[in-house]
Amino acid sequence: MYNNVKHFINGEWVESTGNETIDVINPATEEKMGTISAGTEEDLDRAVQAARKAFPSFSNTTREERVKLLDRIADEYEKRKDDFIKAITQELGSPVTFTEKTQYEMGLRHFRETAKILRDFEFTEQREGSFIQKDAIGVAGLITPWNFPTNQLSTKLASAIAAGSTVILKPASQTPFAAMLVAEVFEAAGVPKGVFNLVNGSGGKIGNAISSHPDIDFVSFTGSGGVGTKIMENAAQDITKVSLELGGKSPIIILDDADVKYAAKNAITNIAANTGQVCTAGTRALVPASMHDEFIEAIKELLPEFPVGDPQDKNTFTGPQVSEEQWNTVQDYIQQGIDSGATLVAGGTGKPDGLETGYYSKLTVFTNVNRDDTIAQEEIFGPVLSVITYNDLDEAIEIANDTIYGLAGYVVGENPETLTKAAKGIRAGRITVNDGKADFSAPFGGFGQSGIGREWGDYGIEEFLEPKTILGLPN
Ligand code: NAP
Repeated sequence: MYNNVKHFINGEWVESTGNETIDVINPATEEKMGTISAGTEEDLDRAVQAARKAFPSFSNTTREERVKLLDRIADEYEKRKDDFIKAITQELGSPVTFTEKTQYEMGLRHFRETAKILRDFEFTEQREGSFIQKDAIGVAGLITPWNFPTNQLSTKLASAIAAGSTVILKPASQTPFAAMLVAEVFEAAGVPKGVFNLVNGSGGKIGNAISSHPDIDFVSFTGSGGVGTKIMENAAQDITKVSLELGGKSPIIILDDADVKYAAKNAITNIAANTGQVCTAGTRALVPASMHDEFIEAIKELLPEFPVGDPQDKNTFTGPQVSEEQWNTVQDYIQQGIDSGATLVAGGTGKPDGLETGYYSKLTVFTNVNRDDTIAQEEIFGPVLSVITYNDLDEAIEIANDTIYGLAGYVVGENPETLTKAAKGIRAGRITVNDGKADFSAPFGGFGQSGIGREWGDYGIEEFLEPKTILGLPN
């Protein structure tokens, strides 16, 4: 059992001013795995004041001091590897192999990469007519979702530390324990008091209070579009800067010279990894009409290579949805796909055989999907693929861009010219060609309703800075 009803404020674990708590459920067992505090607005205010008090001194630390601090944080994070894997596997239901290789690793990579970039990051610039200085933005409120419990908060925290900002973190209530481990990491790394604060609690209370707090200068949010809108509305009252990392409905353009089995594997991986709970997941497979039947056969043949089951089993590829609510949402979408007249190739509603306990969905593939259908337009956040056919590349690019989102895109094929045309034609923040690997120094974020702003690397640091122009400064 993980029981920690305290918040981390001003360098100490402190009791909440209220008595309410939130139960955290293990989605694989449906059993309670721990309890956290449902923090109060007073708790948040205390954290904001601590961050504000720490800001003048922390924002004046040198770049070298902050590089060393990030190195120490990364070292301490590595020491807690087993604890992170245990917590994330239980709270999210993320399969243990994926937790180790992706969930844990991404958190670490952000701290390491940001430290590396910070070594050469320029905070000042002398121009012919002006001197430009980039100042830390102030106190930042960080609100994170449950699907990658350490990735999202690490990119925000690493950038904030690099910039010299102080923070209050509110992690998702469904996955708070990895975030609390990060607080222990920051404590062990000797992060100065008040620089990092963590307040647990519901989004409706603590998240809402962060986005409307007059002493918070910047709100960095990752989550759903609906909550992003509320955050913008609240922040607008004080003209507080926001960055929003929101949802997606990303296309996979499969070119006519692609290896069909490789393309099918790529498409299944996109929906099966993290149980489809990935903002960048490619969930619309755009396939040449001439390749359609072969592609569907390859999907059917390869699906058994992606076992759904117990997250503690090293061979499991796909675990449960994070919660009963998320499972119900996914089931509703699968039913809508069936009702829309799309052809069900695999999966469907209900739980996979033998997995009655736990919020497990079946890996579900629809074909003959109309590009305007709900399942081709809305983010499902579950293991559901929509296959849509196209006749030529221009049409494929047009379908790819027929979305309110623009977070990611995938292109699979051989010919360099066609790959380039497709990759450059998709309007989205990150395009992956074939086996392209994540680059933690490159910007991450979305076009359209996928959000505002960028994270990761130097672009992430810039979000936590305010450029100041000084004119007439004597040299
Ligand atoms: P969510 O419901 O929007 O929640 C995200 C965070 O916001 C949680 O900490 C939540 O707290 C908090 N929150 C809820 N209501 C709030 C309010 N009124 N004011 C302020 N904060 C509030 O999203 P989710 O279901 O956790 O995550 C899934 C979504 O995140 C998907 O749409 C996915 O695409 C998106 N996402 C985007 C990225 C990206 O980088 N673009 C990455 C990952 C996920 P509680 O947990 O207490 O409710």
